[in-house]
Amino acid sequence: MWNEHRHEKQDPRVAAIYPRGIHEAIAEPLRALDGIEACTATLDEEEHGLTQAALDTTGVLIWWGHMAHGEVRDDIVARVKKRVLEGMGLIVLHSAHYSKIFKALMGTTCSLKWREASDKERLWTVNPGHPISAGLPEHFELPMEEMYGEPFGIPEPDELVFISWFTGGEVFRSGAAWRRGNGRVFYFRPGHETYPSYHDKNVRRVLANAVRWARPTVRIADVCPNVGPLEPLPPDPDAQSRSHIGHR
Ligand code: ZN
Repeated sequence: MWNEHRHEKQDPRVAAIYPRGIHEAIAEPLRALDGIEACTATLDEEEHGLTQAALDTTGVLIWWGHMAHGEVRDDIVARVKKRVLEGMGLIVLHSAHYSKIFKALMGTTCSLKWREASDKERLWTVNPGHPISAGLPEHFELPMEEMYGEPFGIPEPDELVFISWFTGGEVFRSGAAWRRGNGRVFYFRPGHETYPSYHDKNVRRVLANAVRWARPTVRIADVCPNVGPLEPLPPDPDAQSRSHIGHR
């Protein structure tokens, strides 16, 4: 569980809701589940806590960030992206729609409309057979959340799991899933820092389901190998000229 961990240090309202940080609020209930070991990393740690050794032992990475996307080192973003393409799962939360890693994996703006006001959010489970919907009601509400509205600048999701409606009238694709290389990516919308959304039981269930869904099944490094044939080949009339141009 990776967290920027800045709002909690700077805003007493956020610290009151998440006294041990958003990362602990998310990691702690995951730790209580069978088959999940959850640890945390934050922006201000050495290499943001995302060393190659840490990523090598990570099956699923959850990402929360907002005010300091620009401080995340580009070489570490590339390292995380490489691990996703190899098979690591990535769960992107709320304002991390604008994180470098999400934009790098989506290839689009990832922009949206937003409003910090008094909206209620109602999430509709539009894909009840999806593993991330397991045990969730047809819809559930968060009494107060920041509004995010369409159009959301994402590529067409491979699977859409939740759609949100807000009191002000907007709708938003709030739970969307993609495959990127061998890895699975899930974006989940709730989690503005001044609201206690990560204490909500349905939100916690979504995150637990998403971690299980995003677990790697393989780890395949990008080595682009030059290989010999499986079967004997006929004589190659161009073999000599190909050796001159150094064909891979
Ligand atoms: Zn927010």
